[in-house]
Amino acid sequence: MLCLLEWRDGRIVCSRCSETCRHITEADLAAVGGDLSKIRRVCGTAARAADIEQARAAMEATRAAAAPIVAAPSLFKRIKNFAPALITHARHGFPKCTQEQMDARHAICRACPGGFYIRDIENPNLGICGHKDCGCSAGREERFLNKLGWADQACPIGAWPAAEGM
Ligand code: SF4
Repeated sequence: MLCLLEWRDGRIVCSRCSETCRHITEADLAAVGGDLSKIRRVCGTAARAADIEQARAAMEATRAAAAPIVAAPSLFKRIKNFAPALITHARHGFPKCTQEQMDARHAICRACPGGFYIRDIENPNLGICGHKDCGCSAGREERFLNKLGWADQACPIGAWPAAEGM
């Protein structure tokens, strides 16, 4: 992104990054006929945005490297885990969590104390519990197969309990 230069109190200033251009000489101005829009200067705003993006990517890479590598249980195991959970859920009358309860559970899962949370890289609202006794969807969006939305369910390592009264 290039600077958007303008005259301000006798100085040439970029209206995007507010930096004063000190290196533009009379000769430079004469060369562009005094037209500041013809002066090409990389804007500090763009440079800062690039720095921020680079820092964010580096932080993500650091987190990814630090996170334990967890694979979701096999489909067979997930079905095996799911069947008794579904029976329990049906026995309780399919109780659902409120959005606030799901959000609270999801916040705990995202920082899973056992490192079992497998996040969806395309949707921060979705993930999977990779614990061997689970393998369910663990997101904050209401879906039938979302463990966090079932009030009677609890975390397999006790990070969050079943909803009160269950
Ligand atoms: S349900 Fe429990 S074990 Fe699974 S990801 Fe959430 S906090 Fe971790």
